[in-house]
Amino acid sequence: MGEEKVKEEAMGIIGMFQVVPRLVVFDLDYTLWPFYCECRSKREMPSLYPHAKGILHALKDKGIDVAVASRSPSPDIANTFLEKLNIKSMFVAKEIFSSWSHKTDHFQRIHSRTGVPFNSMLFFDDEDRNIDAVSKMGVTGILVGNGVNLGALRQGLTKFSQNWNTSQKNKQKWISKFSQKPDASEKIDQK
Ligand SMILES: [Mg+2]
Repeated sequence: MGEEKVKEEAMGIIGMFQVVPRLVVFDLDYTLWPFYCECRSKREMPSLYPHAKGILHALKDKGIDVAVASRSPSPDIANTFLEKLNIKSMFVAKEIFSSWSHKTDHFQRIHSRTGVPFNSMLFFDDEDRNIDAVSKMGVTGILVGNGVNLGALRQGLTKFSQNWNTSQKNKQKWISKFSQKPDASEKIDQK
C-alpha cells in the first residue's frame, strides 16, 4: 500500500472516533523504524515501517499533534535520520535520551513542553515495560509487535476512547456523589 493510500485509510479510521487524543507519542527503534539507530551510521539512508509516514501525515491533517519519546543512546543519529526521512519538523516535542526510568521522564518533559495532560496522550512502543510505566501516569499505551501500522492505530484509538469514557464516567460518579450529599443526609435523618 502506498503512502497516500495509507494516509487516506488512517484518516478514515481517525474519523470514526468521537473522542481522539490531543497528542500521539511514538517510540523510534522498532516502532517507527525497524532497527536500533545506535547500530547504524549517520551516512546511511534509513527507512520507516511501511505505514509510519502515512499515519503521521493523517494525524497532522486531523489536527492531532505528534511527538517522539526514545531512550536511544544516540540522539545525534536519531535526529539525523528524522531529518533524512523529512519528518523531523512534524514533531511538537522530541525527547531522545537514555534513562534508567522507563520513559516516565520523557513523558514529564513532553507534558511540560506541550501542556497536554497525560490522559489526552496515546503512546506506541515495542517494549511493554515502557507501556506499563507510562500507563500508570494516565497515558494510553499500545504495544506494537511489528512497528506502527493501521491495525495498531485503530487499536490505539479504540483503547484511548474506552479509557476516556471510563474516566468521564468516574468523574460523573464523583460529582453526583458529592452533589447528592445533602439529600443523602436528609434520608438518614428521617430514619
Ligand atoms: Mg523501541
